[in-house]
Amino acid sequence: MEKDYYAILGISRNASQDEIKKAYRKMALKYHPDRNPDDPHAEEKFKEVSEAYSVLSDPEKREIYDKYGYEGLKGRGYNFHFDESIFSDFSDIFSQFFGFGGFGDIFGGGSSKRKTRFSPMRGEDLEYEIEITLKECALGKITRVKIPVLETCDRCGGKGVESERDIVTCPNCGGRGFVGYSQGFFQIRRTCSRCGGSGEIIKKACSKCFGKGRVKGEKSIEVNIPAGIEDGMRIRCAGAGNGGVNGGPPGDLYVVVRIEEDKNLKRNGVDIYSDAFVPFTTFILGGRIKVNTIYGIEEINIPPGTQPENVFTLKGKGLPYINSKKRGNHYVRLKVVLPEKLNRRQKELLKEFEEIERKKEGGFFKKVKENLKI
Ligand SMILES: [Zn+2]
Ligand SMILES: [Zn+2]
Repeated sequence: MEKDYYAILGISRNASQDEIKKAYRKMALKYHPDRNPDDPHAEEKFKEVSEAYSVLSDPEKREIYDKYGYEGLKGRGYNFHFDESIFSDFSDIFSQFFGFGGFGDIFGGGSSKRKTRFSPMRGEDLEYEIEITLKECALGKITRVKIPVLETCDRCGGKGVESERDIVTCPNCGGRGFVGYSQGFFQIRRTCSRCGGSGEIIKKACSKCFGKGRVKGEKSIEVNIPAGIEDGMRIRCAGAGNGGVNGGPPGDLYVVVRIEEDKNLKRNGVDIYSDAFVPFTTFILGGRIKVNTIYGIEEINIPPGTQPENVFTLKGKGLPYINSKKRGNHYVRLKVVLPEKLNRRQKELLKEFEEIERKKEGGFFKKVKENLKI
């Protein structure tokens, strides 16, 4: 059966946008479920006119519909499944028509099915920051954190009442959740201020949580920090957030991992960079130096004639890749350290060294002379 959107809205095939709007307003007001509580077909009719309006008010959809019909629209992926949200979605259109609030103001609540205050609610997610050293990052760490949380009240199970019988119908609105009055053509409804629209009030609040359903508490959570984690990464601890209300599930905890700056070891991804300070004589004569790595002290063998700023690679002494046994490297840059004061004997020796070097065929002073040629 082909749906005739024009017939549904009671308009001609060449109706203007204005006529479409007017027809929809009339039909929507007529069939809105809140105005027809005793008519089970009203909701269906309302959805039907809303569907017709959503197509005909959109020039692109209307063109497809005019040319290819309902099946043509479906074939192009347009979907007309309306859920409860349709009643609030269309409130925007109504606020354009009437210049105020929309369905909420006209009908008193977006949906024909209202939420009660006793619907289950999931607890909030929480975030907690933790700082670890670079070494802890390299090895991974299992730690415990204590975090302040709102726990579901064990006395009332999160319902906030002494017993189920203490939840009673709101006397102000008679359980409807709204109060109504007439204003000209419209029946205006306002959310009941006594019960906040739930239609129910608490006669006797729980003596432990005073009706809130939750109490302040503290959780001790074990957090497993994987080796190689990056600064700022978050670890999710399912169910470790605030407790739920009215039987809702708890939220999650997100642990944000910060990595302390190390004075000597700088990180770049899985690689580590550091400087080593080496006496000038070791550069010239060669020797061994000791350097700090994440995994302890390592020795580097420096061959004679090594130049300053040279970089040595300590393979596999960087950080691990997450969930892998593979590791990055540690790069050590050699910095030269010169003596600031020399005694007479040292000066004599260095001068002698200089003289020998100058007389030497192909000595290193020759290199320096070449600088001057430029
Ligand atoms: Zn309680
Ligand atoms: Zn009420």
